[in-house]
Formats: sequence, C-alpha cells, structure tokens
Amino acid sequence: MNTSFCEIILATLKKCLPANNDIVNLHEPLFCGNEWNYIKECIDSTKVSTVGNYVVQFEKMLIDFTGIKYAIATVNGTAALHICLLLSGITKGDEVIVPALTFVATINAVSYCGAIPHFADSEEQTLGLDPYKLLGYLKEISEIRKGTCFNRITGRPIKAVIAMHTFGHPVDLEPLLELCNRFKLVLIEDATESLGSFYKGRHTGNWGKLSALSFNGNKTITTGGGGAILTNGESLAKLAKHLTTTAKLPSRWYFKHDYIGYNYRLPNINAALGCAQMEKLPDILENKRSLAERYRRSFMSIKGIKFFIEPNFAKSNYWLNVLLLENEYHGKLQELLEITNDSGIMTRPAWNLTNKLPMYKDCPKMDLSVAENIESSLINIPSSAFL
Ligand SMILES: *Cc1c(COP(=O)(O)O)cnc(C)c1O
Repeated sequence: MNTSFCEIILATLKKCLPANNDIVNLHEPLFCGNEWNYIKECIDSTKVSTVGNYVVQFEKMLIDFTGIKYAIATVNGTAALHICLLLSGITKGDEVIVPALTFVATINAVSYCGAIPHFADSEEQTLGLDPYKLLGYLKEISEIRKGTCFNRITGRPIKAVIAMHTFGHPVDLEPLLELCNRFKLVLIEDATESLGSFYKGRHTGNWGKLSALSFNGNKTITTGGGGAILTNGESLAKLAKHLTTTAKLPSRWYFKHDYIGYNYRLPNINAALGCAQMEKLPDILENKRSLAERYRRSFMSIKGIKFFIEPNFAKSNYWLNVLLLENEYHGKLQELLEITNDSGIMTRPAWNLTNKLPMYKDCPKMDLSVAENIESSLINIPSSAFL
C-alpha cells in the first residue's frame, strides 16, 4: 500500500464526479431551458442580427439580476473591457494597474487604448489584487500632482485599476475602493468570470465605475460569444451604447456618426441564447455551489493540497474550481496535470503570469511573489453545472 500523492488526488476527484467513461471537461455549458425556442424564433423571423428584441430583454435580465442600473450587451467580454477603459478616459501613455494573474484579455484591452499595463500582486485569500500590498507600493512609487497620480519612476500618469474576480472569487473591494479614492484612480471591474458572485451582499460589477461581463462558451452562462458593460452612470451607459453601435446618430435613413465607434453590439440571436440562459442562472449557480461543496468536503482530509473556498466576505459562483498545492508539493503540479488529463478528467494550471508574456515583459510591475506562488501551485478542476 504505497499510493502516491497524485493517485490520491485522482481518486478523490473521481469520487466527486459522476461515474462513467466519458471525458470530464473543465467547463461545459448547460442548455436545459428555452434555448431552442428562442433561437428558432430569431431564425423564423429573420431577426438574427441588429434587429429584434432579445438584446433589450437580455440587458434587462442582467440589470434585474445584478442590481446594476444599466447594462449594455457586447460581442464579447474583451470588447466590453475595451469600452470600459475608453469611457474611464484611458488614453495613450497612461498606466493602468492590473493583476499579473489574469487571462491575457484583461491586459490586451489596456493595450488597445495605447495605455501601459502596470502589474500588481495577488493575495492568497482571494487570488485577486491585494489592496494593502498595492497601497504600500503606490505610497512608495507614486505622487499626486494636481489631482492626478503619477508614477515617479516612469513619469507617466496612473489612471485606473482593474480588479479581476479570479475564477469567480471577489476581490476585497472596499479597501481597494478606498485606495482608488486616495490615489485618484478609476476602479474598473473585470467581472467576466464572476456573474453570480457577490461581495458583501452586492453583486460584483456593481462596485467600479464600469465593469465587464463575458458570456463566452466556457463561462457560467453563455451566448456563444458575448459580453456586457455594467455601470450605474446614466451618461456613461448612453455613451457605451453609442460607441458599441458604431456611434450612429438616430435617423430614419441617413448614416451619420459622431465618434470613431465600434461594431461591438451583441447580435439578437446570441442575446436570445442569453435570455434562455439567464432564466436558468439561479439553478446553474446552485448546482455549481453544490459541486464546490462536494469538492470541499472530499479534499478536507487530504494532506498537501487544499480546495479553495470563497473569501469570508463573499458569495462566489465557483466558476472554475481551484485546488492549491502546499509548498512542499509544488513539484507535483506537472505529474498531477498528466495523471488527471490521461484519465479523462480535464484539469489545467493557472494562466502564466501575464507580465512574463513577450509583449508585456518590459512593463512596470511591483513584487509579484504571491502571484508567482499561486501560479506554481494552482490547478483548475472540472466545474460544469451539470456535474
Ligand atoms: C473570459 C475572460 C475575458 C474575456 O472574455 P471574452 O468574452 O472571451 O472576450 C476577460 N478577462 C478574463 C479574466 C476572462 O476570464
């Protein structure tokens, strides 16, 4: 009886998952409602694109669920982030504080504005930005001049912070907001992973000036591809709608545009899928949380690894479930990925820290030791709502 560490983890995973011979993917959509009906209606009526009522209906459903005042549906989450940054006044040569531990889209959106990502560290409690460590760092390297925060080393203005709710777990938003007020920074939330996640009772995406959601195929709900901008500002919402619909002025037939706009609107057929998915969101979240609970209980007694649970101020959607290897077991990550994927249970490591990617390797950054530690210890495990 000499079962290896990785074999024990594999057996524990199997115990939590349905017993069959199918491959268990990391995250698959669940279609169990009106998806077919609504899409058929789009096709039967030919309203698959810019005409039709599903976009408005979908936006209304997002507003009702998140408690936000305005939601603007977009083609994807990256486009939503791009507009959030533009409407926060981010322009060429500005710096934007971003987590190093994130999907590359967060960082790319900053680049689309000609701005420079400035990488910040994570905290173990949330896997997201550490507001206290960031506070100490900004005190050291920045100064406020005429109401604008400047990086004393690069001389560039630091304009905003993007909080990304990692795998659905909310960042500690209150101290982060306090920091933003103190340093005159705009808070933007990358809530692309956190539909259904709440911080201190209020939905994520409802704390920043502007926020982005994603409905990509692997997210909690999907529209095929899609996203949304959330804001509580009426004029911001109007501008967001305007910019995402080619900045076209209302007219019966003339094409008049008053900005360089974007074709970022969500097609009606995708919004139809979104409406059907939103109807099922509460069930999806319940299923995801109960799978997480099963994982939590099963991994409680396993030595060398822990199942990541929501921070105490949060109610998380458990979008992608997380296991973290304890320090002495970091060397097992590769073997664990191999043994699970070879057995048909799909697992995945964290993203490589975005500051190490070739196009971002020379950007400013603070000490990233916690993010680095998470990078070498994290493994995502199957998280679909039907499991
Ligand atoms: C999914 C995701 C996005 C982008 O969403 P798309 O809809 O795929 O463009 C952005 N940031 C993070 C952290 C994501 O996980």
